[in-house]
Amino acid sequence: MTVLVTGAAGFIGFHVARALLARGEAVIGLDAFTPYYDVGLKRARAAELARQARFHLVEADFALPGALAPLAALGIARIVHLGAQPGVRHSIENPQAYLHSNLAGHLALLEFARHTPGLVHMVYASSSSVYGANQRLPFAVEDRTDHPVSLYAATKRADELMSETYAHLYRIPLTGLRFFTVYGPWGRPDMAVWSFTEALYAGRPIRLFAGGNLLRDFTFIDDIVAGILAVLDRPPADDGALKPGGSRSPHALYNIGNNRPERVRDLLALLEAETGLAAYVETLPMQPGDMEATFADISALERATGFRPATPLAEGIACWVAWYRDVWRTRQSSKGTG
Ligand code: NAD
Repeated sequence: MTVLVTGAAGFIGFHVARALLARGEAVIGLDAFTPYYDVGLKRARAAELARQARFHLVEADFALPGALAPLAALGIARIVHLGAQPGVRHSIENPQAYLHSNLAGHLALLEFARHTPGLVHMVYASSSSVYGANQRLPFAVEDRTDHPVSLYAATKRADELMSETYAHLYRIPLTGLRFFTVYGPWGRPDMAVWSFTEALYAGRPIRLFAGGNLLRDFTFIDDIVAGILAVLDRPPADDGALKPGGSRSPHALYNIGNNRPERVRDLLALLEAETGLAAYVETLPMQPGDMEATFADISALERATGFRPATPLAEGIACWVAWYRDVWRTRQSSKGTG
Protein backbone atom coordinates (compact mmCIF):
# COMPACT_ATOMS: atom_id res chain seq x y z
CA MET A 1 0.00 0.00 0.00
CA THR A 2 1.36 3.39 -0.97
CA VAL A 3 1.69 6.16 1.59
CA LEU A 4 1.68 9.83 0.58
CA VAL A 5 3.93 11.91 2.85
CA THR A 6 3.57 15.67 2.35
CA GLY A 7 6.48 17.83 3.46
CA ALA A 8 8.79 14.84 2.85
CA ALA A 9 11.79 17.14 2.35
CA GLY A 10 11.03 18.76 5.70
CA PHE A 11 12.41 17.68 9.08
CA ILE A 12 9.64 15.40 10.37
CA GLY A 13 8.43 14.30 6.90
CA PHE A 14 11.93 13.14 5.97
CA HIS A 15 12.18 10.94 9.07
CA VAL A 16 8.67 9.54 8.65
CA ALA A 17 9.28 8.72 4.98
CA ARG A 18 12.57 7.03 5.91
CA ALA A 19 10.89 4.93 8.62
CA LEU A 20 8.05 3.90 6.30
CA LEU A 21 10.56 2.86 3.62
CA ALA A 22 12.54 0.91 6.23
CA ARG A 23 9.46 -1.15 7.06
CA GLY A 24 8.91 -1.95 3.38
CA GLU A 25 6.25 0.56 2.31
CA ALA A 26 6.13 2.46 -0.99
CA VAL A 27 6.27 6.21 -0.32
CA ILE A 28 5.32 9.17 -2.47
CA GLY A 29 7.02 12.23 -1.00
CA LEU A 30 5.48 15.57 -1.91
CA ASP A 31 7.25 18.86 -1.24
CA ALA A 32 7.44 22.36 -2.73
CA PHE A 33 10.93 23.08 -1.32
CA THR A 34 9.76 26.42 0.05
CA PRO A 35 12.59 28.86 0.90
CA TYR A 36 11.58 29.41 4.56
CA TYR A 37 14.99 27.96 5.53
CA ASP A 38 18.02 26.57 3.66
CA VAL A 39 16.63 24.80 0.59
CA GLY A 40 19.96 22.95 0.31
CA LEU A 41 19.05 21.11 3.53
CA LYS A 42 15.67 20.11 2.07
CA ARG A 43 17.38 18.94 -1.16
CA ALA A 44 19.87 16.91 0.89
CA ARG A 45 17.05 15.19 2.79
CA ALA A 46 15.21 14.42 -0.48
CA ALA A 47 18.44 13.03 -1.99
CA GLU A 48 18.81 10.68 0.99
CA LEU A 49 15.27 9.39 0.44
CA ALA A 50 15.78 9.05 -3.32
CA ARG A 51 18.42 6.37 -2.64
CA GLN A 52 15.52 4.03 -1.91
CA ALA A 53 13.83 2.42 -4.92
CA ARG A 54 10.38 2.55 -3.29
CA PHE A 55 10.55 6.33 -2.89
CA HIS A 56 9.02 8.62 -5.49
CA LEU A 57 9.42 12.41 -5.19
CA VAL A 58 6.74 14.78 -6.46
CA GLU A 59 7.78 18.42 -6.43
CA ALA A 60 4.58 20.48 -6.20
CA ASP A 61 2.76 23.09 -4.12
CA PHE A 62 -0.26 21.22 -2.75
CA ALA A 63 -2.15 24.46 -2.09
CA LEU A 64 -2.35 25.33 -5.79
CA PRO A 65 -5.51 24.27 -7.64
CA GLY A 66 -5.09 20.93 -9.43
CA ALA A 67 -1.67 20.23 -7.90
CA LEU A 68 -2.77 16.91 -6.39
CA ALA A 69 -4.71 15.64 -9.44
CA PRO A 70 -1.73 13.71 -10.90
CA LEU A 71 -1.57 11.67 -7.65
CA ALA A 72 -5.10 10.29 -8.06
CA ALA A 73 -3.99 7.28 -10.10
CA LEU A 74 -1.14 6.25 -7.81
CA GLY A 75 -3.08 3.96 -5.44
CA ILE A 76 -2.58 6.02 -2.28
CA ALA A 77 -4.11 4.25 0.74
CA ARG A 78 -2.75 6.40 3.57
CA ILE A 79 -1.57 10.00 3.94
CA VAL A 80 0.78 11.57 6.46
CA HIS A 81 0.25 15.30 5.91
CA LEU A 82 3.21 17.15 7.40
CA GLY A 83 3.81 19.85 4.78
CA ALA A 84 3.09 23.32 6.18
CA GLN A 85 4.46 26.76 6.82
CA PRO A 86 5.82 26.34 10.37
CA GLY A 87 7.25 28.86 12.83
CA VAL A 88 5.48 31.06 15.37
CA ARG A 89 7.59 34.20 14.98
CA HIS A 90 7.62 34.13 11.16
CA SER A 91 3.80 34.22 11.16
CA ILE A 92 3.90 37.73 12.60
CA GLU A 93 5.76 39.09 9.55
CA ASN A 94 4.42 36.73 6.86
CA PRO A 95 0.79 35.85 7.60
CA GLN A 96 -0.07 35.12 3.95
CA ALA A 97 2.29 32.12 3.78
CA TYR A 98 0.23 30.49 6.57
CA LEU A 99 -3.05 31.17 4.85
CA HIS A 100 -1.68 29.56 1.68
CA SER A 101 0.06 26.41 2.93
CA ASN A 102 -1.78 25.77 6.20
CA LEU A 103 -5.36 26.72 5.33
CA ALA A 104 -5.74 26.40 1.52
CA GLY A 105 -3.17 23.57 1.61
CA HIS A 106 -4.91 21.63 4.39
CA LEU A 107 -8.25 21.97 2.62
CA ALA A 108 -6.65 20.67 -0.60
CA LEU A 109 -5.44 17.56 1.26
CA LEU A 110 -8.89 17.01 2.80
CA GLU A 111 -10.48 17.29 -0.66
CA PHE A 112 -7.90 14.88 -2.03
CA ALA A 113 -8.68 12.45 0.79
CA ARG A 114 -12.42 12.80 0.12
CA HIS A 115 -11.97 11.92 -3.54
CA THR A 116 -9.51 9.05 -3.01
CA PRO A 117 -11.56 5.84 -3.00
CA GLY A 118 -10.57 3.39 -0.28
CA LEU A 119 -8.42 5.85 1.64
CA VAL A 120 -7.68 4.11 4.93
CA HIS A 121 -6.43 7.02 7.06
CA MET A 122 -4.96 10.52 6.93
CA VAL A 123 -2.73 11.63 9.82
CA TYR A 124 -1.98 15.37 9.87
CA ALA A 125 0.25 17.71 11.85
CA SER A 126 -1.20 20.09 14.37
CA SER A 127 0.83 21.81 17.06
CA SER A 128 1.15 22.40 20.79
CA SER A 129 0.76 26.08 19.90
CA VAL A 130 -3.04 25.58 19.72
CA TYR A 131 -3.03 25.71 23.55
CA GLY A 132 -2.00 29.38 23.29
CA ALA A 133 -2.81 31.31 26.44
CA ASN A 134 -4.00 28.25 28.41
CA GLN A 135 -2.69 28.26 31.98
CA ARG A 136 -3.45 24.72 33.11
CA LEU A 137 -0.49 22.34 32.70
CA PRO A 138 0.01 19.76 31.33
CA PHE A 139 -2.04 20.53 28.21
CA ALA A 140 -4.67 17.84 27.55
CA VAL A 141 -6.55 17.23 24.30
CA GLU A 142 -9.82 17.78 26.17
CA ASP A 143 -8.81 21.37 27.08
CA ARG A 144 -10.40 24.27 25.22
CA THR A 145 -8.19 25.80 22.54
CA ASP A 146 -9.90 29.08 21.75
CA HIS A 147 -7.06 31.49 22.46
CA PRO A 148 -4.20 31.02 19.99
CA VAL A 149 -1.46 33.64 20.50
CA SER A 150 -0.04 33.48 16.96
CA LEU A 151 -1.52 33.21 13.48
CA TYR A 152 0.45 29.98 13.05
CA ALA A 153 -1.47 28.51 16.00
CA ALA A 154 -4.77 29.81 14.63
CA THR A 155 -4.16 28.06 11.29
CA LYS A 156 -3.32 24.78 13.04
CA ARG A 157 -6.50 24.97 15.12
CA ALA A 158 -8.46 25.79 11.96
CA ASP A 159 -6.97 22.65 10.35
CA GLU A 160 -8.35 20.59 13.22
CA LEU A 161 -11.79 22.16 12.82
CA MET A 162 -11.84 21.64 9.03
CA SER A 163 -10.80 18.03 9.62
CA GLU A 164 -13.67 17.55 12.08
CA THR A 165 -16.11 18.73 9.43
CA TYR A 166 -14.68 16.38 6.79
CA ALA A 167 -14.71 13.42 9.18
CA HIS A 168 -18.36 14.23 9.98
CA LEU A 169 -19.57 14.84 6.41
CA TYR A 170 -17.56 12.23 4.50
CA ARG A 171 -16.61 9.74 7.28
CA ILE A 172 -12.90 10.01 6.38
CA PRO A 173 -10.71 8.54 9.17
CA LEU A 174 -8.49 11.44 10.31
CA THR A 175 -6.02 11.87 13.16
CA GLY A 176 -4.44 15.19 14.16
CA LEU A 177 -1.19 15.17 16.13
CA ARG A 178 -0.21 18.15 18.27
CA PHE A 179 3.59 18.05 18.17
CA PHE A 180 5.65 19.54 20.99
CA THR A 181 9.04 21.12 19.98
CA VAL A 182 10.68 18.36 17.96
CA TYR A 183 14.49 18.15 17.67
CA GLY A 184 17.12 15.75 16.36
CA PRO A 185 19.37 14.98 13.37
CA TRP A 186 18.32 16.67 10.09
CA GLY A 187 16.40 19.20 12.23
CA ARG A 188 15.20 22.71 11.49
CA PRO A 189 17.66 25.67 11.35
CA ASP A 190 15.01 28.13 12.61
CA MET A 191 14.54 26.24 15.90
CA ALA A 192 16.54 26.79 19.10
CA VAL A 193 18.41 23.47 19.13
CA TRP A 194 19.88 24.08 15.66
CA SER A 195 20.39 27.85 15.92
CA PHE A 196 22.07 27.63 19.36
CA THR A 197 24.41 24.89 18.14
CA GLU A 198 25.26 26.82 14.98
CA ALA A 199 25.98 29.95 17.04
CA LEU A 200 28.16 27.99 19.50
CA TYR A 201 30.37 26.66 16.69
CA ALA A 202 30.49 30.06 14.95
CA GLY A 203 31.29 31.93 18.21
CA ARG A 204 28.22 34.12 17.68
CA PRO A 205 26.03 35.47 20.50
CA ILE A 206 22.95 33.44 21.42
CA ARG A 207 19.71 35.32 21.98
CA LEU A 208 17.83 33.96 24.99
CA PHE A 209 14.27 35.22 25.21
CA ALA A 210 12.67 35.74 28.63
CA GLY A 211 16.01 34.98 30.27
CA GLY A 212 15.91 31.39 28.99
CA ASN A 213 13.09 30.68 31.44
CA LEU A 214 10.57 29.53 28.83
CA LEU A 215 9.69 25.87 29.33
CA ARG A 216 9.50 23.54 26.34
CA ASP A 217 8.56 19.88 26.13
CA PHE A 218 11.49 19.04 23.80
CA THR A 219 10.71 15.78 21.99
CA PHE A 220 13.28 13.66 20.16
CA ILE A 221 12.52 12.90 16.52
CA ASP A 222 12.71 9.09 16.92
CA ASP A 223 9.96 9.24 19.56
CA ILE A 224 7.84 11.43 17.28
CA VAL A 225 8.27 9.01 14.36
CA ALA A 226 7.37 6.02 16.55
CA GLY A 227 4.21 7.85 17.64
CA ILE A 228 3.23 8.85 14.08
CA LEU A 229 3.61 5.30 12.77
CA ALA A 230 1.71 3.82 15.72
CA VAL A 231 -1.14 6.24 15.05
CA LEU A 232 -1.08 5.71 11.28
CA ASP A 233 -1.63 2.00 11.85
CA ARG A 234 -4.74 2.68 13.98
CA PRO A 235 -7.35 4.68 12.03
CA PRO A 236 -10.14 5.93 14.31
CA ALA A 237 -13.23 3.74 13.98
CA ASP A 238 -16.50 5.15 12.62
CA ASP A 239 -18.47 3.76 15.57
CA GLY A 240 -20.01 6.86 17.14
CA ALA A 241 -17.82 6.45 20.24
CA LEU A 242 -16.19 9.52 21.77
CA LYS A 243 -12.65 10.04 20.42
CA PRO A 244 -9.74 11.85 22.11
CA GLY A 245 -10.36 15.52 21.36
CA GLY A 246 -14.14 15.14 21.64
CA SER A 247 -15.28 13.94 18.21
CA ARG A 248 -17.93 11.27 17.61
CA SER A 249 -16.88 11.10 13.97
CA PRO A 250 -13.79 9.12 12.89
CA HIS A 251 -11.48 11.94 13.99
CA ALA A 252 -8.99 11.72 16.86
CA LEU A 253 -6.62 14.34 18.29
CA TYR A 254 -3.50 13.48 20.30
CA ASN A 255 -0.67 15.32 21.99
CA ILE A 256 2.72 13.90 21.16
CA GLY A 257 5.45 15.26 23.39
CA ASN A 258 8.14 14.22 25.83
CA ASN A 259 5.87 14.80 28.86
CA ARG A 260 8.79 16.54 30.62
CA PRO A 261 9.24 20.29 30.04
CA GLU A 262 12.74 21.79 30.40
CA ARG A 263 13.99 25.39 30.58
CA VAL A 264 15.54 26.74 27.39
CA ARG A 265 18.60 27.82 29.41
CA ASP A 266 19.06 24.19 30.56
CA LEU A 267 18.92 23.11 26.93
CA LEU A 268 21.71 25.60 26.24
CA ALA A 269 23.77 24.23 29.13
CA LEU A 270 23.44 20.71 27.67
CA LEU A 271 24.54 21.99 24.26
CA GLU A 272 27.55 23.73 25.82
CA ALA A 273 28.53 20.54 27.65
CA GLU A 274 28.11 18.37 24.57
CA THR A 275 30.01 20.69 22.19
CA GLY A 276 32.61 21.73 24.79
CA LEU A 277 31.98 25.37 23.81
CA ALA A 278 30.89 28.29 25.99
CA ALA A 279 27.96 30.45 24.92
CA TYR A 280 28.00 34.22 24.76
CA VAL A 281 24.41 35.02 25.77
CA GLU A 282 22.30 38.05 24.89
CA THR A 283 19.15 38.24 27.02
CA LEU A 284 16.01 39.59 25.34
CA PRO A 285 12.39 40.02 26.46
CA MET A 286 9.72 37.48 25.58
CA GLN A 287 8.67 37.68 21.90
CA PRO A 288 5.11 38.28 20.69
CA GLY A 289 3.44 34.97 19.84
CA ASP A 290 5.61 32.95 22.25
CA MET A 291 4.13 30.72 24.94
CA GLU A 292 5.61 30.61 28.45
CA ALA A 293 5.46 26.85 28.75
CA THR A 294 4.50 23.78 26.77
CA PHE A 295 3.90 20.47 28.51
CA ALA A 296 2.10 17.53 26.89
CA ASP A 297 -0.36 15.28 28.65
CA ILE A 298 0.19 12.18 26.50
CA SER A 299 -2.15 9.83 28.34
CA ALA A 300 -4.64 9.63 25.42
CA LEU A 301 -1.91 8.56 23.01
CA GLU A 302 -0.47 6.14 25.57
CA ARG A 303 -3.88 4.51 26.02
CA ALA A 304 -4.49 4.21 22.27
CA THR A 305 -1.05 3.03 21.14
CA GLY A 306 1.17 2.31 24.15
CA PHE A 307 3.30 5.35 23.20
CA ARG A 308 5.98 6.37 25.73
CA PRO A 309 8.80 8.76 24.82
CA ALA A 310 12.08 6.87 25.26
CA THR A 311 14.69 9.62 24.86
CA PRO A 312 15.70 11.91 27.74
CA LEU A 313 16.85 15.37 26.62
CA ALA A 314 20.53 14.75 27.47
CA GLU A 315 20.60 11.60 25.33
CA GLY A 316 18.79 13.23 22.42
CA ILE A 317 21.09 16.26 22.54
CA ALA A 318 24.17 14.02 22.46
CA CYS A 319 22.75 12.36 19.34
CA TRP A 320 21.91 15.75 17.81
CA VAL A 321 25.36 17.26 18.44
CA ALA A 322 27.08 14.15 17.03
CA TRP A 323 25.06 14.50 13.82
CA TYR A 324 25.58 18.26 13.55
CA ARG A 325 29.33 18.01 14.17
CA ASP A 326 30.17 14.82 12.27
CA VAL A 327 27.66 14.84 9.42
CA TRP A 328 26.36 18.34 8.77
CA ARG A 329 29.47 20.41 9.49
CA THR A 330 31.67 17.93 7.62
CA ARG A 331 29.33 18.08 4.68
CA GLN A 332 29.26 21.89 4.66
CA SER A 333 33.03 22.20 4.95
CA SER A 334 33.63 19.69 2.15
CA LYS A 335 31.23 21.72 -0.05
CA GLY A 336 33.18 24.86 0.90
CA THR A 337 36.49 23.37 -0.19
CA GLY A 338 35.00 22.36 -3.56
P1 NAD B 1 9.56 21.70 7.88
O1 NAD B 1 9.44 23.13 7.50
O2 NAD B 1 10.94 21.15 8.03
O3 NAD B 1 8.77 20.80 6.85
C1 NAD B 1 7.62 21.24 6.16
C2 NAD B 1 7.82 20.96 4.67
O4 NAD B 1 6.62 21.31 3.99
C3 NAD B 1 8.95 21.78 4.05
O5 NAD B 1 9.90 20.92 3.44
C4 NAD B 1 8.25 22.66 3.02
O6 NAD B 1 9.03 22.86 1.83
C5 NAD B 1 6.96 21.88 2.76
N1 NAD B 1 5.85 22.74 2.32
C6 NAD B 1 5.43 23.89 2.90
N2 NAD B 1 4.40 24.39 2.20
C7 NAD B 1 4.17 23.54 1.18
C8 NAD B 1 3.22 23.52 0.11
N3 NAD B 1 2.32 24.51 -0.03
N4 NAD B 1 3.25 22.49 -0.78
C9 NAD B 1 4.17 21.48 -0.63
N5 NAD B 1 5.09 21.46 0.37
C10 NAD B 1 5.09 22.47 1.26
O7 NAD B 1 8.75 21.52 9.24
P2 NAD B 1 8.68 20.27 10.25
O8 NAD B 1 9.36 20.65 11.49
O9 NAD B 1 9.08 19.02 9.55
O10 NAD B 1 7.12 20.24 10.55
C11 NAD B 1 6.24 19.27 10.00
C12 NAD B 1 4.84 19.57 10.47
O11 NAD B 1 4.78 19.50 11.90
C13 NAD B 1 4.33 20.97 10.12
O12 NAD B 1 2.96 20.89 9.85
C14 NAD B 1 4.56 21.77 11.39
O13 NAD B 1 3.68 22.86 11.46
C15 NAD B 1 4.28 20.71 12.43
N6 NAD B 1 4.93 20.96 13.72
C16 NAD B 1 6.29 20.83 13.85
C17 NAD B 1 6.88 21.05 15.10
C18 NAD B 1 8.37 20.91 15.30
O14 NAD B 1 8.82 21.09 16.45
N7 NAD B 1 9.18 20.58 14.26
C19 NAD B 1 6.09 21.38 16.21
C20 NAD B 1 4.71 21.51 16.04
C21 NAD B 1 4.14 21.27 14.81
